[in-house]
Amino acid sequence: MNTRIYKPNDLKNHDVKTDIKDVLLNGKNIIFPTETVYGIGAHVLNETGVKNIYHIKGRPSDNPLIMHMAKISDIGHYVYIDQPYVEALMNTFWPGPLTLVLRKKDVVPTWITGGLQTVGVRIPSHPVALDILKIAGVPICAPSANQSGRPSSTLFEHVLEDFQGKVDIMVDGGKSEVGLESTVLDVTGVHPVILRPGVITKTMIESITSPVLISEDATKQQIPKAPGMKYKHYAPKGSLTIVEGKVSDVVNHINTQIKHHHPNQKVGVIASSDVKDAFKTAYVFNIGDPNQPAEIASNVYIALRTMDQLNIDVIYSLSFKDTQYQEVIMNRLYKAANYQVITV
Ligand code: AMP
Ligand code: MG
Repeated sequence: MNTRIYKPNDLKNHDVKTDIKDVLLNGKNIIFPTETVYGIGAHVLNETGVKNIYHIKGRPSDNPLIMHMAKISDIGHYVYIDQPYVEALMNTFWPGPLTLVLRKKDVVPTWITGGLQTVGVRIPSHPVALDILKIAGVPICAPSANQSGRPSSTLFEHVLEDFQGKVDIMVDGGKSEVGLESTVLDVTGVHPVILRPGVITKTMIESITSPVLISEDATKQQIPKAPGMKYKHYAPKGSLTIVEGKVSDVVNHINTQIKHHHPNQKVGVIASSDVKDAFKTAYVFNIGDPNQPAEIASNVYIALRTMDQLNIDVIYSLSFKDTQYQEVIMNRLYKAANYQVITV
């Protein structure tokens, strides 16, 4: 398939708009940037387009998709709003990286929900994502644009790596600003429940609602039960271990490990800028300033994908804990490491 690649400015062009609309309405797919990660989109009501997403991602069919919409006023057509706090959450955090899980109305097909009677809904803030939703005039389901199990795509080159020739359209929006997937919040009950942590944190949500619960699946060391969280996730090709403890001990431990690896094995380290020069390997990824949690968050998947591009066999990552976003950053890193964590 010949993939057509557009830049954000091209979306003003009439022929490009028509192309986007035709692709979606005819059951084909488009990859586009959102503020969280790149998404691979299909028209929610078109079964062919949605099934194709599962097929080309290699995504298990019981892993539900998030429905993206352009306007709050359209939401009531698709879902029931059962709790009084839901509208305040929408008004506060939308457009933005918060997905609300609500009871679906009959119009929402179970082929996007993995058979569930609830559906995750979000209004993204990225101007390109909003433009595409407006051009399409229909809701778009858009899971992360990565081969299932691999790190999500936060640079256009990641999207090309995984999907060039497999979708009709890709829009190059540069680097994803947030760089980690949305917070998923179940708002069907009296208390909201975080199913997947994101940069919209428990504290931020609690400023609007009653106390927020965190599902066991969203906590770091558990093997998850909720749909979509139980599968292998975000994994680089090399074996990843998170090393925790006092920074100087962590550095010493990793350097000792590097010494003991077979000379044919490439060893990489994911480290913050303060200690990036402390490791005895040529393959150190500087994930960012330890005092800039948003910068670290935006580089998590780039770090993992860079290790793959360098064909690193064994990866050590520091833990990035003393930050505002530790919950979300460590949730993704622990999963990427398949919970392989060493405390020194
Ligand atoms: P992705 O689109 O790749 O970010 O994955 C979306 C994730 O949102 C899924 O893997 C689920 O964990 C979560 N999700 C979406 N819809 C629901 C739902 N109805 N109930 C529970 N979790 C959901
Ligand atoms: Mg995903």
